[in-house]
Amino acid sequence: MGTVVFIGAGPGAADLITVRGAQRLAAAEVVLYDALTDPALQDLAPNATWHHVGKRGFRPDSTDQTEINDLLVRYAREHGNVVRLKGGDPSIFGRLEEELEALAKAGIPCEVVPGVTSALAAAAAAQRPLTRRGVGRSLSLTTAMTRTGDMVSSRTADTEVFYMAGKQLAALSARLIEAGWPAGTPVSVVSRAGWPDSLQSEHTVGTLDDASQVHTDRPAVVVVGAGAAALDHSPVVTEAAHVPPTR
Ligand code: SAH
Repeated sequence: MGTVVFIGAGPGAADLITVRGAQRLAAAEVVLYDALTDPALQDLAPNATWHHVGKRGFRPDSTDQTEINDLLVRYAREHGNVVRLKGGDPSIFGRLEEELEALAKAGIPCEVVPGVTSALAAAAAAQRPLTRRGVGRSLSLTTAMTRTGDMVSSRTADTEVFYMAGKQLAALSARLIEAGWPAGTPVSVVSRAGWPDSLQSEHTVGTLDDASQVHTDRPAVVVVGAGAAALDHSPVVTEAAHVPPTR
């Protein structure tokens, strides 16, 4: 009976994985990985068997979650060290609970190694801290996508970061206004945070839909509120290519 180690690969470039994650990966015999992780990570476990089980949102062609759960159990039984590599952090919108439960039910021991989640990579790329002394005291991470297709939004924290909103920015804008955010509230959108070709653009809640053209077909997070505001003296950003507002 083997073990399964869930590892957060971070949001992009392979060097954003933690040292612990890289060490566990190097010891893997089998790696199950998602669509969003950097192929260069394979160099960290060149002798392991790599299985792509890519999932993107609720796309019908993506690997079924039950199938992934079953594969994890099977590989853990057949091999010693199995790694489940997930983009960002496994505990954030990674369906980790389902995989942990499937393994617990099968009596297979697990470990979780955290990773850098996209919201944090976006804050770093844009050099816009998510908390701000006095005005940004709370942070929420929200998925804009639900199984039923309903767009959910809220105003529960000073800074709110929306994942999986890419194709629904007009709807998100409308929901944010309904939730009580003033139309002029700053919004920062960062796509491919943590990659060399990261892009950042700025908007307001009312003009958020403009970001659709800038970040087409790129994984993006939408930062709303205190943590989206530009600093008084804008930093010289070298990591994220900056795109000025389109309006
Ligand atoms: N576990 C992941 C999130 C998986 S959900 C994490 O912790 O980051 C997938 C969503 O994450 C995408 O729809 C997008 O909103 C966001 N995302 C993933 N990679 C990203 C990146 N490099 N830059 C910006 N957003 C990203």
